[in-house]
Amino acid sequence: ILQNVRKNVTKLSPYIPGKPIREVQEEYGLSEVAKLASNENPIGPSKKVQAAIQSVLGELHRYPDGGSTELKRAIAQKHDVTPEHILVGNGSDELIKMLSETFLHPGDEVVMPAPSFSQYVFGTLLMDGSVNYVPLAEGFEYDLDAILRAITPRTKMVYLCTPNNPTGTYIRKEAFAAFMRKLPEGVLIVLDEAYYEYVTAADAVHGLSFVREGYPVVVLHTFSKLYALAGLRVGYLVADPSIVQEINRVREPFNVNTVAQVAAVTALDDTEHVQTSIEVNESGKKQLYSAFERLGLTYIPTQTNFILVDTKRPSKEVFQQLLKVGVIIRSGEPFGLSTWIRVSVGTQEENIRLIEALEQI
Ligand code: PMP
Repeated sequence: ILQNVRKNVTKLSPYIPGKPIREVQEEYGLSEVAKLASNENPIGPSKKVQAAIQSVLGELHRYPDGGSTELKRAIAQKHDVTPEHILVGNGSDELIKMLSETFLHPGDEVVMPAPSFSQYVFGTLLMDGSVNYVPLAEGFEYDLDAILRAITPRTKMVYLCTPNNPTGTYIRKEAFAAFMRKLPEGVLIVLDEAYYEYVTAADAVHGLSFVREGYPVVVLHTFSKLYALAGLRVGYLVADPSIVQEINRVREPFNVNTVAQVAAVTALDDTEHVQTSIEVNESGKKQLYSAFERLGLTYIPTQTNFILVDTKRPSKEVFQQLLKVGVIIRSGEPFGLSTWIRVSVGTQEENIRLIEALEQI
């Protein structure tokens, strides 16, 4: 039926998310399962956020505020930009898709590091563009000169994920400034900073200062990680208002739901919970680092809430063995890292489960 009308979507592979907890419980007959696969905040949203969600449940027969006005105002205030610099999405996944829809024509190229986040590939292929992968350097560090060399006259966008998923490595401020000075005209840089709130390195780049200075930079942030709202789907981008206006043309009218908007506004303001979440992550990181060292496993020091670990065995098998004992992690296989696994930093108890499971297998 579709032969003459369909676009060639067979090149797109559906995204395979981390297995849901309930599925693993049912499949393996387990009551306790630790999900350390999707880099979520293990302590969840605060009581304040839960109360804010309760407070709007009586309004669900109304459409959401299509412009996410209050949320944009709150984000703008936090980052010292105007609401016109901001676009809110149904997760940053949606914003990645909208960037492609806005800026890519068939045959255009996108440059990105490898390994990195798979949705950049999805967005590009969706618009019949092609991806020019630039392998990360030694220790999964960024080599921005190699990124520059990969740019061709067909390149429209460069995705730079910092800190990078799945490696946890990051771009230095100085290196990024030099990169921007050498960047050819007509190329849009997308700095995906989904994990920027976890960064402790003083020399890490923060894209917002480049946005404020008028560079062709789009910064992506999300409420799914530190702000613990992955289930509600809220992300945002910050860019020059002229860029935001263009992307806003492809936005669905009510792309961010009412509950998500109110939860995000409240989460942004809840500095106490943010601080607690950062502390849980910092102590969890230390706990995991020392366990990996004891077990003789190489890991990449991270600026995020996940760690890339070399198990020195096929990661596909490690993934299956850990599942059986109720620990969900991410295999490095789809990233081309056949012996590495990516584990999210959990609560103390979840981390212990992971460590004990790694000791057993
Ligand atoms: N970018 C990166 C680097 C990510 O790791 C993720 C989540 N896996 C996203 C974007 C998507 O986040 P969101 O939940 O906001 O769609």
